[in-house]
Amino acid sequence: MNLTNYHSHCLYCDGRADMASFARFAISKGFTAYGYSSHAPLPFPTAWTMEWDRMDDYLNEFSRLKSQYEGRLELYVGLEIDYLNEESHPAAARFQDLPLDYRIGSVHLLQNAKGEVVDADLSPERFAQMVEKHFHGNLENAVRQYFDRSERMLQLGGFDILGHADKVHYNAECYCPHVTSEDWYVSLVRMHLANAVHRGYLIEVNTKAWQDLKVFYPGISYFPFLHELGARVVVNSDAHYPERINYGRLEALRALQEAGFHTVAELHGERWMDVPISIETLQ
Ligand SMILES: [Zn+2]
Ligand SMILES: [Zn+2]
Repeated sequence: MNLTNYHSHCLYCDGRADMASFARFAISKGFTAYGYSSHAPLPFPTAWTMEWDRMDDYLNEFSRLKSQYEGRLELYVGLEIDYLNEESHPAAARFQDLPLDYRIGSVHLLQNAKGEVVDADLSPERFAQMVEKHFHGNLENAVRQYFDRSERMLQLGGFDILGHADKVHYNAECYCPHVTSEDWYVSLVRMHLANAVHRGYLIEVNTKAWQDLKVFYPGISYFPFLHELGARVVVNSDAHYPERINYGRLEALRALQEAGFHTVAELHGERWMDVPISIETLQ
């Protein structure tokens, strides 16, 4: 029944509940597989990433829950790892050495002309301020850098799932209406998705914003293109609250089916399998 989610955040990063609460909620919703993907540590502290001194606790708490739920819910542990720079990215040895079931590669951060790290994963209002302050109002430069960084992350590798591709699209559209329909923007997204698929990454359909904004990352208009590419897609809710683990899942599955997909990728028994979409049976 495609009741799975592999992208979620708990109290080890910026999630709003402990690991156990997510597992309990997943069971109550009938989920068959559930994965934790805390924001991996960066070389500096932030309000939203895990610190290295919490990593052992994260992995130990996961192991305890995995044993506790054995036979009732498949639990998996991963990390959502940022491409920051050539030192800090999913392929870095310190992330590869961790005993994880999977890794999500994501871009949340940009760099301004002074080389300062700039958060780009913001509300539309703060995103607009960021573009003004750090890119002199040049949205195209910010967007191009976002995709350049994500491309570099694909080249470096070390992860399984491309997290929320083109997450910048909602904010870009708010900043400059219709920009995401312009040729340069569309070709950036298409090239990036094609490169990701050709390199063998699973492509996440991130449903986090569906409830509030009615958008997916990547956007629904790219679903037919993903199907043409032969992409293997994973529907993830990127939940920070237990009650949101199921948000947008059914709508994403429906949209994928309309775009021609018959299967989605799900991790079961430690293997990514192509599982038929069975939305007729979904509540
Ligand atoms: Zn993310
Ligand atoms: Zn996330």
